[in-house]
Amino acid sequence: MVSKDFIELEDKYGAHNYHPLPVVLSKGDGAFLWDVEGKKYYDFLSAYSAVNQGHCHPKIIDALTEQARTLTLTSRAFFNDKLGPYEKYITEYFGYDKVLPMNSGAEADETALKLARRWGYDKKGVAENQAKIIVCEGNFHGRTITIISMSSDPDSYKGFGPYTPGFEVIPYNDLEALEKALEDENVVAFLVEPIQGEAGVYVPDDGYLKKAYDICKAKNVLFIADEVQTGIARTGKLLACDHEDVRADILILGKALSGGVIPISAVLADDDIMLVIKPGEHGSTFGGNPVAAQVAMAALEVVKDENLAERAEELGKIFRTEMKNFNNPNVEKVRGKGLLNAIIIKPANGKEAWDVCVKMAENGVLAKPTHQHIVRFAPPLVITEDELRDAIKIIKKSILETFES
Ligand code: PLP
Repeated sequence: MVSKDFIELEDKYGAHNYHPLPVVLSKGDGAFLWDVEGKKYYDFLSAYSAVNQGHCHPKIIDALTEQARTLTLTSRAFFNDKLGPYEKYITEYFGYDKVLPMNSGAEADETALKLARRWGYDKKGVAENQAKIIVCEGNFHGRTITIISMSSDPDSYKGFGPYTPGFEVIPYNDLEALEKALEDENVVAFLVEPIQGEAGVYVPDDGYLKKAYDICKAKNVLFIADEVQTGIARTGKLLACDHEDVRADILILGKALSGGVIPISAVLADDDIMLVIKPGEHGSTFGGNPVAAQVAMAALEVVKDENLAERAEELGKIFRTEMKNFNNPNVEKVRGKGLLNAIIIKPANGKEAWDVCVKMAENGVLAKPTHQHIVRFAPPLVITEDELRDAIKIIKKSILETFES
């Protein structure tokens, strides 16, 4: 079978909820992917920042396979010998009292919302069913009904109502709007992405997170950071909130928590918040399973062992400098932090961001447009400087070739 055959199979038998680039991948190693015809690519998406540690990292795969041969799942009906050590490890790693393990990012976000509401009723004294959570325009927290109820993107929410009540959407990067929204005493939490990834890598003003955190503190409102995409070294620090020394009351992690190996997510908080949820009130069959525990520990060890945050910081600077100095009329803007970056494409000759991505794929770099004019660039953080510079050359050449005709 060749690429075309696999594409036809997905088209015929799979739901049409994605629109992939026409590339069929069959192998990955570090910063590279190979298609079924054996062509090699730089991966500049990293599965939406899940593969920060690089494809098939040997240490993570060893943890996976060893544990998979021993014990995979017991459910939380019993204790197991991997969960406790993992919980100790991850809470010490990020500096929180407790962790609640889940699987997907969306589930972790849902968990944080439930935690915040319950905290509001039990600790803040909000009247039953009155809790309100503030979110930002352009947010992306996943695909569940409650999460799309908070979305301002019609592609996410339109046609899926009725929606879950209890959310107010305010503009991102707008402290005045936050202050005003927090005048309502029923507000229990502010949920924010430190950089809006899916929206197109929107980086808020310096100081925004810190001031937003302070505003929340002054009003006894929980500051919830969704670091599913920005966390785990992607932006040049372990957490994007670390850039402003903000310690979220509730921290949401996913994606790179497994190095892209299996779905692992987590919610971290201190006892005062986490212990409002009692046995039987929340959970997940697979959350915190022994394989996930071993994989997540290995994935987090790799981040420290290989200084991935520092690498992302340094390499990100090179990427942005190179792309800014490119001075191409079809590149309107370059923005990002660490190795989470985006360029805004100015369409011309009937060509837009999608065409740039198709051309880059032809030339050996895989990236995907997010919204119509934005291309996100997020390679695995293990990419070397030479590889990065080589990929940048391909990206520039592809932009030139897209718009020259
Ligand atoms: N939160 C953020 C910030 C995300 O970027 C994403 C996915 O892109 C999610 C949550 C949802 O994660 P998942 O797709 O694992 O449910």
